[in-house]
Amino acid sequence: MRTLRARLTLLYVAVTGGMFLVFGAAVYGVVGVLLMNHVDRTLRHTAHVMMSQIRRDEFGDIIVPIPDDLALAAGMAVQVWDRQGRLVVASHNLREYTHPLSPQGLSVTQPTLRTEDLQGHPWRVLSEPIYVGERRVATLQVAMPLEAVYRAKQVVLLSVIAVALLAVLLAALVSYFSVQAALEPLTRVTAVADQITHADDLSRRIPVPQGAGDEVWTLVQAFNATLSRLEALFQAQRRFIADVGHELRTPLTVIKGNAQWMRRIGKLDWEALDSIEEEADRLSRLVDDLLLLERAEAGKLPLRREIVDLAAVATDVLREMQVVAREKIDLKADIQPVIVCGDPDRLKQVLLNLVGNAIKYTPKGGTVWLEVRQEGQQAVIKVRDTGPGIPPEDLPHIFERFYRADKARSRGKGFGLGLSIAYWIVKHHDGHIEAASQPGEGTTFTVTLPVMPEEGCMPEPEDEPHALEAG
Ligand code: ADP
Repeated sequence: MRTLRARLTLLYVAVTGGMFLVFGAAVYGVVGVLLMNHVDRTLRHTAHVMMSQIRRDEFGDIIVPIPDDLALAAGMAVQVWDRQGRLVVASHNLREYTHPLSPQGLSVTQPTLRTEDLQGHPWRVLSEPIYVGERRVATLQVAMPLEAVYRAKQVVLLSVIAVALLAVLLAALVSYFSVQAALEPLTRVTAVADQITHADDLSRRIPVPQGAGDEVWTLVQAFNATLSRLEALFQAQRRFIADVGHELRTPLTVIKGNAQWMRRIGKLDWEALDSIEEEADRLSRLVDDLLLLERAEAGKLPLRREIVDLAAVATDVLREMQVVAREKIDLKADIQPVIVCGDPDRLKQVLLNLVGNAIKYTPKGGTVWLEVRQEGQQAVIKVRDTGPGIPPEDLPHIFERFYRADKARSRGKGFGLGLSIAYWIVKHHDGHIEAASQPGEGTTFTVTLPVMPEEGCMPEPEDEPHALEAG
């Protein structure tokens, strides 16, 4: 009884059985009343006809004409008893029976119907007093056997019970199989879930038939969607571990190689020390970036929310990047005043990452533009370059962690984390970042941020714990 199928089947059976019980009782009762009414009507009618034919003979005695058997309804019996309790006359079929059909009926003062037991058989008896003027002279008793009525009622009862049993059986079968069919997808979900657990294979899906739209299939679709999401998460996690391992290996190899080299030559080598320091810096940058990303993705990036002059931030970035660009790249700028709300250090980090990338990936002699302006209620930052561009197949992925478009060329230049960090910082500022690129012609990164609202920069309630965390 613990399965849903058993419980639903039991419920259907109980409901159908209950319905037939009520229905059967009603049919049985109504049929009984109708048959009895019919018997009573026939008795009254016969008594009425006989009363209307009563005469008196020449001595003043009453004569009750008894209809012959053929004129009487099937099995009907008639008796007339006088005041002294003598049987005056009886119908043909009562010749052997000399007792009153209803002893109590002999004393009635008006027509009375009774059910009597005569020699073990049920009869319906109508007793009616016969008056001559004011004087009661006799009693007429008309009776009909009730066996046919009882038999008819029994047949009805048996039929109702038979139909009810059949209906209950049918309900049990129909509900058992229909519930089984309805729950079939759930059985499949359970089987697939078991397989996934045992085989550790998240790529499995439960096939959903075309056009299936009921609740269970909707659940199956939701389950499939959850599996897809889990699969993507696990893949991302695996990729992430592989990527981090990969990124750690090169600097550690370099550090170890340099240390071994110094041990072998038995003295300090300044070049080797520089290299060790450089790789250690790289490692700590990687760790910083990873921690920052982890917090940003978890929605726990500590962000200040203050008035930020984007033009000032961009000018700062420009000055720092001029040092990096030197004679290699022509760094140009068109910076107009725009005020936004946010964390100035994080927004500066976005600009540094974008301009840094542009300078990093643009070959010598190229140009990089930094533009800042206001368009409607949006602050727009554009970083354009004349570099090699990003292939279309890589474009949708460049904001993912550790993604590098040109694997061979990019390796060593960065970890593939800069754009992810920029993406999350912009996202946490309610902004938008996108990249457009023509391979061979250059790349444009566009960041849009909402400008400061008229009422100023109000700290968002949910931002406050972050700000505290940051402090
Ligand atoms: P990285 O640290 O490798 O630069 P990013 O997340 O900043 O990582 O960038 C991801 C990848 O996007 C880079 O490896 C590079 O292939 C590509 N990319 C980013 N900016 C540019 C650009 N201005 N021109 C061409 N490719 C770029």
